[in-house]
Amino acid sequence: QQPELWSPEFNDFINKCLTKDYEKRPTVSSLLQHDFIKQIEGKENVLQRSVLSFLISRNCMSFFSRFERIHTKKGNYSKSLVSNQEEVDDLATLEVLDENTVTEQLQKGYAKDQIYTYVGDILIAVNPFRNIDIYSSQYSRLYIGAKRTANPPHIFAVADIGYQSMVTYNSDQCIVISGESGAGKTQSAHLLVQQLTVLGKANNRTLQEKILQVNNLVEAFGNAGTIINDNSSRFGKYLEMKFTCGGTVVGAQISEYLLEKSRVVHQAVGEKNFHIFYYIYAGLAEKKKLAHYKLPEYRPPRYLQNDHFRIVQDFMNNSFYKSQFELIEQCFKVIGFTLEELGSVYSVLAAILNVGNIEFSAVVSEHTIDKSNISNPVALENCASLLCIQADELQEALTSHCVVTRGETIIRPNTVEKATDVRDAMAKALYGRLFSWIVNRINTLLKPDKHLSGNDDGLNIGILDIFGFENFKKNSFEQLCINIANEQIQFYFNQHVFAWEQNEYLYEGVDARVIEYEDNRPLLDMFLQKPMGLLSLLDEESRFPQATDQTLVEKFEDNLKSKYFWRPKRVDLTFGIYHYAGKVLYNASGFLAKNRDTLPADIVLLLRSSENNLTRQLATHPLTKTGIATVVILFFSSLPTHGALYKFYKYPGGRYLVTFLQYSLMDLLSKMVVGQPHFVRCIKPNNDRQANKFDKEKVLVQLRYTGILETARIRRQGYSHRILFANFIKRYYLICYKTNDDPPVSPETCAAILEKAHLDNWVLGKTKVFLKYYHVEQLNLMRKET
Ligand code: ATP
Ligand code: MG
Repeated sequence: QQPELWSPEFNDFINKCLTKDYEKRPTVSSLLQHDFIKQIEGKENVLQRSVLSFLISRNCMSFFSRFERIHTKKGNYSKSLVSNQEEVDDLATLEVLDENTVTEQLQKGYAKDQIYTYVGDILIAVNPFRNIDIYSSQYSRLYIGAKRTANPPHIFAVADIGYQSMVTYNSDQCIVISGESGAGKTQSAHLLVQQLTVLGKANNRTLQEKILQVNNLVEAFGNAGTIINDNSSRFGKYLEMKFTCGGTVVGAQISEYLLEKSRVVHQAVGEKNFHIFYYIYAGLAEKKKLAHYKLPEYRPPRYLQNDHFRIVQDFMNNSFYKSQFELIEQCFKVIGFTLEELGSVYSVLAAILNVGNIEFSAVVSEHTIDKSNISNPVALENCASLLCIQADELQEALTSHCVVTRGETIIRPNTVEKATDVRDAMAKALYGRLFSWIVNRINTLLKPDKHLSGNDDGLNIGILDIFGFENFKKNSFEQLCINIANEQIQFYFNQHVFAWEQNEYLYEGVDARVIEYEDNRPLLDMFLQKPMGLLSLLDEESRFPQATDQTLVEKFEDNLKSKYFWRPKRVDLTFGIYHYAGKVLYNASGFLAKNRDTLPADIVLLLRSSENNLTRQLATHPLTKTGIATVVILFFSSLPTHGALYKFYKYPGGRYLVTFLQYSLMDLLSKMVVGQPHFVRCIKPNNDRQANKFDKEKVLVQLRYTGILETARIRRQGYSHRILFANFIKRYYLICYKTNDDPPVSPETCAAILEKAHLDNWVLGKTKVFLKYYHVEQLNLMRKET
């Protein structure tokens, strides 16, 4: 919707004001001094509103902190309220907005396969755990350019709002999908991409096909079966669809965050390795190529031995895996990978499985007690030949290491334990780097063609789908990383929703202090602060060679003076964190090693000597993203209230995984703040992945922590109901006036009604009546009595 007084000149003018340098941005008074604006005498308020709506659309929150007095209008809440007896599409229009009513509404919808509901501008999606026929091309068409109220709530409508806002405001958008593991985030992301390719009218069918394959491909490598979700994302994914300014899709780009590499070498009970390993096994068996890739046909490679699969036949003959293999091979081809590249990818995957089969035995002799030897040279040979490196050199790199003391290089033998660690580190590194390589390749292949996108930089819509919050019986380093990432997303969500609320108070001239906003910032500080935050402490401890997981937990306990941290038993490695989504008990066993995530230089050098192109590339491939410090600074300077956090990040140091975690999160968030966000909150209706089962308690817990009820709480503490004077009077005038009276639409009339009703604590803004949630009940009661 175009704000009043909008014109191309005005658009240009504001765009100029939006310089990257925040200090140089204008204040309201300087804006008003501008010639163009002076012509609009007497309309300053309207103008300010226009400026602000524009800035909100660009998500330039820090911009308006420089305005002395800002007014804006947000139209959502002027809707007339709907009685709770009825079913609503938008929970924000409910008369009573509390935990019970919200859950009831969701349950009612769920029973009728209406899995989507709005809460204001946020979409709630309840996982149906079965296919519902609402995603056909018919539905797709229904939601193109339609008014939100014209159709039932739908994920396609979110795609449409994102797309229309992008085109209308000429600004980047991002869609943030959150929810716990198995709630339906990845599925939602697929549906968004599907609808956005339709909206983006890719006139080039090949491009459309390519984009649709991207998710399938990266998910084959980055997803795995967990006890919670058969297709659980084990990495964070930010997929950006690139458009021309006219809205034609021209390409895509993905960023990946924190792949859970440890899964390659070890899976918890009941869990599986990454999908791709099973796919290639079944696929290559079908093609009679197992021997070619030196994959054993009887005993499963150790990395694939788990309680699901005891013999190779378990997955080799699996028809689902076979068909997935075909699909993935097709994806590779459609996106544009060459056959040679494909062969190399299979070789590296097969090499990883062979690495895992290498075993060591202790060599006991008089002089060297701690030496180890490779007890199954076949696996070693296989691995070396697949990676095109020398077997003896690989043996050397696994069973010994170089130490440089006083300029002299000494070769020291590795114990069996150490050699095993090096072996697993090699497998993890290979897989992690392979994953990054594939992602990079996809990005190159799907980069917008300059001819197609024209001269402009184009626009994009990003879709964020990360691993959901996890709380298992035993939680390790991976869960900590995953949960911190979710904590960040939650922070972002709060920030955004809060800022919007704040806006309306400002515009209406209502005292903003009434909103007591409880955010997860203190908890994030506990994690991210330097030098005393949990991540910094972990990084610091990782640098001490003598440190153990025990000393680490003690360090946490001694330094983290926070109510969000506790240590139940002083003796063991357990510590607890009160996350926004609930308390989680972590076991610090293996934290240091996992954080160090080191790959011995000997292995890297050896891989670089490979005769295989891909292997060599993997060893030289830069892993970290560049310009992190800049990105970090950009991110925090764009959030006005976070000057303090910004300080912590200004000079990032440290070299370990958690440091990288901070970086990549900042990187991610910095990408998101540039766009206008849209939120999709996925809800898991039960823990058994069952269709037609709505566990009220389970849903309630999620509503609480995903912020849906937090929003409701903020509304309760503030003024949950904001009704335009005219609507208020129309609805309640009978409390104070006679049926035939026609009182003027004015604040005085509203005040008269409210006083007659003996209510207090209400506020009149410039255009709206601000009411507490309980006022509405009271008013409705009185209206019925008259
Ligand atoms: P994780 O955090 O573990 O990656 P997730 O939130 O991404 O979890 P999904 O993998 O998207 O969860 O969903 C889990 C399963 O739920 C899907 O494999 C699918 O079977 C089912 N599901 C999710 N959304 C839908 C939907 N809209 N329609 C039908 N089934 C769905
Ligand atoms: Mg997922």
